[in-house]
Amino acid sequence: MRRYSAFAIAREAARYHQGWERAWASPEPKRAYDVIIVGAGGHGLATAFYLGKNFGITNVAVIEKGWLGGGNTGRNTTIIRSNYLQDPSAAIYEKARSLYETMSQDLNYNVMFSPRGVLMLAQTEHEVRGYTRTAHANALQGVKTEFVGPERVKEIVPIINIDGPRYPVLGALWQARAGTARHDAVAWGYARACSDMGMDIIQKCEVTGVNTENGAVTGVETTRGTIGCKKLGVVVAGHSSVLAEMAGFRLPMESVALQALVSEPIKPCMDCVVMANTVHGYMSQSDKGEMVIGGGTDGYNNYTQRGSFHHIEETVRALVETFPMISRLKMLRQWGGIVDVTGDRSPIISKAPVEGMFFNCGWGTGGFKAIPGSGWGFAELMARGYSPLTAEFGLNRFREGRFIDESVAAGVAH
Ligand SMILES: Cc1cc2nc3c(=O)[nH]c(=O)nc-3n(C[C@H](O)[C@H](O)[C@H](O)COP(=O)(O)OP(=O)(O)OC[C@H]3O[C@@H](n4cnc5c(N)ncnc54)[C@H](O)[C@@H]3O)c2cc1C
Repeated sequence: MRRYSAFAIAREAARYHQGWERAWASPEPKRAYDVIIVGAGGHGLATAFYLGKNFGITNVAVIEKGWLGGGNTGRNTTIIRSNYLQDPSAAIYEKARSLYETMSQDLNYNVMFSPRGVLMLAQTEHEVRGYTRTAHANALQGVKTEFVGPERVKEIVPIINIDGPRYPVLGALWQARAGTARHDAVAWGYARACSDMGMDIIQKCEVTGVNTENGAVTGVETTRGTIGCKKLGVVVAGHSSVLAEMAGFRLPMESVALQALVSEPIKPCMDCVVMANTVHGYMSQSDKGEMVIGGGTDGYNNYTQRGSFHHIEETVRALVETFPMISRLKMLRQWGGIVDVTGDRSPIISKAPVEGMFFNCGWGTGGFKAIPGSGWGFAELMARGYSPLTAEFGLNRFREGRFIDESVAAGVAH
C-alpha cells in the first residue's frame, strides 16, 4: 500500500485525486484462519495489528457485524488519560497513552492525537483526598500528574465557574500529556495497517455461534457461513455477554447505555478536557469548535444504543453550573453506545473457559484511551499465552476476590 505523505497529496492534487487506493480491502471470508478476532472496534483492530507487527501472525480475520469502528469506538468522546489509581491499570493505560504519542507515525495515518491536558475537578473534601492519593500513586508509577489548586484551574480554563453554586472547585488532578484523538481515525488507521499486512477485515458479518470440539474452539458460525480458526479473540464491548453465552459460560458484567452530545460549533474557548465527577458531567472542545459533552451511564441495563432523556438533562444541568456560558448554546446531536461494565470497573483481558478462546472486554465507559495498550497486551496474551500487561486482568480475579478497584477513576470519568 502506498504511504500517505505531503508528496502524495501534491501528486494526487495534480491528477484530480484519481489515484488514491482503497484504504482497506473487503474480501470474502476464507474457510479458516489461524486467528479470528470478533469485533472491528479499536480494541479488536489494535489486537490484530499487534499480532502482525509484534508476532508475525497475519493469517487473521477481523469479523464485524456492522461497519468497522461503528460501535463504541466511533461513539465515544475521545478522552485519553492514564491517571488511574491501581498499578496494573496505570501500567496498561500509560502504555496506551505513550503509544498514542507516536500512533500517527506508526500507522502512517493522522489520528490527530492532541495532548491538550485533562483536569479532573475535586469538588468535595472526599475528592480532594482521593485525587491527592491518586497523584501520589501516579508519582510512584511513573505517570506524570499533579494536584493543582482552584486558582490554577481557573488559569487553565478561564470559562469555568469555580465558585459553585452547589459545589465549589477545591482543586483538580491535572495530567498535562493527557488529551484527545480522532476516534474514527484510530479505527481506520489500524484497519488500513492490518489490511496492508494481508489480514481480512470482514464487515457486515455477524457471529451467531461458537464451534467447539472436546472443549476447544474450532471456529465460528456467522451470517456468511462457518469459518474455522485455531484461536478466537472476542472483543465486542457491550455484546460480550452475548458471545460468552454462545460459548456456554457467563461473564461477570453488565451492559448499559452511555450517551454523549455535541453543541453547535463556536470559536475556540477551551483547550483542555474538564471532568466534573461530583456534578456528573465532562466537556472538551472539538477541532471543529463543537463542545463535546458527556455524563454517566443509564441507571438500568439495556441494549438500545440511544440512552435515556433524563440523563441528558442531568448532564447538561451539571455542565451549565460548571460552565454557565454553555446555557446559551444549541445542542446539535446526541447519541449512545452500549458499554460493558464490571464490578470493579476494570477490564477483563483473559483466557476463556473454552480452550483457544480469549476475551477482551469490560472497558466500560473508558476504553477508547486504552486501545493501543490493550491491543498490545491482548495480542501478546493470544500469541504467547501470557502478557505482563494483562496478567492481573484475568477472569479468575472475580473468583479469587482480587479486585482492581477503579471506581474512583472510572465512576463518571471516561
Ligand atoms: C458515549 C460514549 C462516550 C465514551 N467516552 C469515552 C472517552 O471519552 N474516553 C474513553 O477512553 N472511552 C470512552 N468511551 C468508551 C469507549 O468508547 C469504549 O470502551 C471503547 O470504544 C470500546 O472499544 P471496543 O473496540 O472494545 O468496542 P466497540 O468499538 O464497540 O467494538 C466492538 C464491535 O463488535 C461488534 N460486534 C458485536 N457483536 C458482534 C457479533 N456477534 N459479531 C460480529 N461483530 C460484533 C460491534 O458491532 C462493534 O463494532 C465512551 C463510550 C461511549 C458510548
